[in-house]
Amino acid sequence: MTTTTTNPKQRLALRGDLLDFTSMPGWAQLDSPAVRFQPDHWLLIEDGRIVGTQAAAPDASWDREDHSGKLILPGFIDTHVHCPQLDVIASYGTELLDWLNTYTFPAECRYADPAVARAGAERFVDALLAHGTTAAVVFPTVHKTSAEALFEAAAARGMRLVTGKVLMDRHAPDGLRDDVAGAERDCIDLIQRFHGRDRLAYAVTVRFAPTSTPEQLAMAGALCRADASLFMQTHVAENRSEVEWVARLFPDARSYLDVYAREGLLHPRAVLAHGIWLDEDDRRQLAASGAQVAFCPSSNLFLGSGLFDWPAARAAGFRVSAASDVGGGTSLSMQRNLLDGYKVQAMAGHRLSAWAALHAATRGAAEALGLGGEIGSFDAGRLADVCVWDWARGPVAEARHAVARELHEKVFAWMILSDERNLLASYVAGKPQFRRRPDR
Ligand SMILES: [Zn+2]
Repeated sequence: MTTTTTNPKQRLALRGDLLDFTSMPGWAQLDSPAVRFQPDHWLLIEDGRIVGTQAAAPDASWDREDHSGKLILPGFIDTHVHCPQLDVIASYGTELLDWLNTYTFPAECRYADPAVARAGAERFVDALLAHGTTAAVVFPTVHKTSAEALFEAAAARGMRLVTGKVLMDRHAPDGLRDDVAGAERDCIDLIQRFHGRDRLAYAVTVRFAPTSTPEQLAMAGALCRADASLFMQTHVAENRSEVEWVARLFPDARSYLDVYAREGLLHPRAVLAHGIWLDEDDRRQLAASGAQVAFCPSSNLFLGSGLFDWPAARAAGFRVSAASDVGGGTSLSMQRNLLDGYKVQAMAGHRLSAWAALHAATRGAAEALGLGGEIGSFDAGRLADVCVWDWARGPVAEARHAVARELHEKVFAWMILSDERNLLASYVAGKPQFRRRPDR
């Protein structure tokens, strides 16, 4: 018989009101079996992984953090957000195509400088963590150095991050265009260095159809076909002027979505932002491909882009996750975005439950990304990406919370009235990466 000596495991137990999902809740089902609420329970974390939950206090072999009376959720997953656009959030007065030219492209030009890219990436990932977002699918800029900076910043914090150098070889100003051969070389180098390292993954990142030539789209499709473990991210059918422009640029394509489909860019690891102006054939094609749409409600309202039809997506059977799309979006806070998501659905005559909304920002997003085995829930074996929230801050939210009786009523009021100021702590793989200052 042999004996092996192992290091003692790092054991951390968090006490609070645990809320997560075991599957996708029904669209308007308020009393859903998919909701797993464990009030005043302990979440047990060993060596960064969740090993279980229990009502009784664990023994003295566990480091204990008592957050009783607080809400504990899986960390949010933001499936569509732009790192360099923190600098242009809240810019006045334009729709998508003007907004890109007036605000966004000038801001992105600055990321050619590695020092700017590095500082911007650090600020960005720390901002995500300070908003309760522990994993993200991110656009940097066309510059290789901006993708490197994001990968390094996420790795330093142990975060799950999906990104890739933006592809754009036309219809963009000087300093923001690449070319097919150079872009392909950069992608291959970044894939070799970062894809699958730590918790990083590479996304073939087409900005949107108008800024890539057909040759560049073909190159992007070839990268995806060569390695099915790569993600793909882009924008689709956000704004009516954009849709008309794409129809003029690609007269042979059946639709905007078809521009991507025929190049092999629609697959189960594809994340398409917006998807507002789709038709039934597009929805069927999305469902058949396994690709997901990132619903970006605060951006869609702010830029006046349109109202995403979530029930039609459910009926067609494709996956929908929630996203901020900062800087078109107006906050990194997923609660703020889900509040806007509720309003967008209400404007179209639908009602978005807290369950459908929060699932799309946690387990639903994780599963749509093929990462359900790693993040998005408190199932045993998941990495402990976890956030602790105040149920209510300030007299109005506190009074509302005090009179709420049903679970959905409580959680819905939390989702509508809370934001990043409610966040107490964010843990990434069991390590605290954000804590609110005691005086806040
Ligand atoms: Zn976007």
